[in-house]
Amino acid sequence: MNTDNANQEPELIDLYQKPEKIYTRSFSGHFRTLRLAGGTFLFLLFFGTCWINLNGRQAVFFDLPARQFHIFGTTYWPQDFILLSWLLIICAFGLFALTVFAGRIWCGYTCPQSVFTWVFMWAERITEGERNRRMKMDKEPMSLGKFLRKSAKHTLWLSIAFATALTFVGYFIPIRQLVLDIAALDVAPWGIFWLGFFTLATYGNAGYLREQVCIHMCPYARFQSVMFDNDTLVVAYDKHRGEQRGPRKKSADHKTMGLGDCVDCSVCVQVCPTGIDIRDGLQYQCIGCAACIDACDTIMDKMGYDKGLIRYTTDNELAGQKTRWLRPRLIGYGSALFIMICLFIFSVSHRMPLELEVLRDRNVLFRVINDDQVENIYTLKVANKDQQPHLIRIRVAGIENLKIAGRTAIVAEPGSVQQEIIRVIAPLIDGAPSTRPVRFSISSSQPGLEAITAESRFMMPGPERKP
Ligand code: SF4
Ligand code: SF4
Repeated sequence: MNTDNANQEPELIDLYQKPEKIYTRSFSGHFRTLRLAGGTFLFLLFFGTCWINLNGRQAVFFDLPARQFHIFGTTYWPQDFILLSWLLIICAFGLFALTVFAGRIWCGYTCPQSVFTWVFMWAERITEGERNRRMKMDKEPMSLGKFLRKSAKHTLWLSIAFATALTFVGYFIPIRQLVLDIAALDVAPWGIFWLGFFTLATYGNAGYLREQVCIHMCPYARFQSVMFDNDTLVVAYDKHRGEQRGPRKKSADHKTMGLGDCVDCSVCVQVCPTGIDIRDGLQYQCIGCAACIDACDTIMDKMGYDKGLIRYTTDNELAGQKTRWLRPRLIGYGSALFIMICLFIFSVSHRMPLELEVLRDRNVLFRVINDDQVENIYTLKVANKDQQPHLIRIRVAGIENLKIAGRTAIVAEPGSVQQEIIRVIAPLIDGAPSTRPVRFSISSSQPGLEAITAESRFMMPGPERKP
C-alpha cells in the first residue's frame, strides 16, 4: 500500500470561477453618440410619459384593480388581451428580423439592462474617477476619501434606482398622487413594497450584476445564435488586416516589420462592458454595443491608419465574399412582420368600444300574459370601454311583433359594465316551436357604433302545451 498517497491532503478544485470585476474605460466615437441619443430618447419616453395628462386622466395608466389599461385616450379591457398578444408577437418577430439583419444591436443600444448599466457606469465614473483610478482605489485600504467617493457613488446609484422605481410604479398607481403620498409619508403597503423592490432590482442589476445578466440570465443571448448567418452584421475584428499584432512607433513602417494594423494596445478590451477580447472572434458574451469599434477607431486615427480594424461587418465580407442583404430568412421574417402589423392596425382601428352580452333568466322559462302573449326575461350586460358616456338604444328582433316592455334606452357610463333587466314580449302563436332565435342589438348616436348584436333564444309554450 502506498502510504504517501494515503497521507496526502485531497486537492480541492473549485468549479465556480469568481467573475472578475470589470473596470471599463471611457471612450468617444460615432456609435457612442448614437447610443447616447437613443438612450436619451428612451429615457425621456420612460420618465416623461407617465406625467402626461389627457382629459384629466394620466394618459398611460394601467389600472390593475379595475382591470383597465388607459393608453392615450383609449381604454383596453381584459377582453382586448388578444391585441396585447398580437403586439408581443409583433415585437418578437421584429426582434428576430433585426437579429437576422444586424445581430445583437437591440442588446447594445436599447435593452433596458444595457441602457441602465451605461448610466450606472457614468455615475461610477463621475464619483470614483477614471478606470485606472478606480482600480487603484479598490486595492487601497479604506480612507476618508475612499469612503466619501464610494458613498457618493452608492447615493447616486440609489437615487437613479429610486427614480426608476417611482416612474415604473407610477404607471400602475397615479404618479402625481404617488409623489404626494411619498412627500406625506403616507404610501400604501403595496406601493412601499413595489417601490422598494424595483429600487433594489435596478440597483442590483445595473450596479452589480451588469454583464452577468446578459451572459448568464438573458435567454435571448442563448438562442440568438441560431438566427445568425454568414450575412448577419456583427462586430468583428479583421484579423487579416490586424495580425501580426504588436507595438510599434507611429513613424515606423509596420508592414516591413511584418506587423498588421493592431498595435496590441488592449483599449478595445478595456472599453468592453462584458470584458471580452473581440480579437478572439465572435463570442456569445458580445452584446454588439460597438464600444470596441469606437475605441479602436480612435487608436487607428492616432496611428494614421484607416479606421475599421474592428467594425460592423459580416462573415462573408471578412472571407472576401459578397454579403447578401436580401435573403429568404430575412424576407420571411419581414413579410410576417408586415402582415402582422397590418392586422394589428386593422384590429385596433376596428375595435368596438361597446360590448353586449345577453343572459336568459334561467329560473322562469316564460310567462303567459292575458292568454295571448308570452314574456321572457333577459339580463343585458353593456360594457362601455370608451372614455365618454354613450346613450344606448336597445332593440330586439327575430319574431313578428316582438317588443321590449319598459325602457329601451340607457346611459352607459365610461369604463363601466351596466346590467339591465329586459322584459321581452311576443304574441302567443299556437303550435309554434318552443324555442326561437332572437337578436338583441345596441346602438349609440356615435357614428360607427350602430349595430352591436348578441343572439339568444325566446321560449314559447310549445305545440304540445296549452297556455
Ligand atoms: S484597440 Fe484596435 S489596435 Fe488596440 S488592441 Fe484593440 S484591435 Fe488592436
Ligand atoms: S466586444 Fe465590442 S461590441 Fe462586443 S460587447 Fe465588447 S465592446 Fe461591445
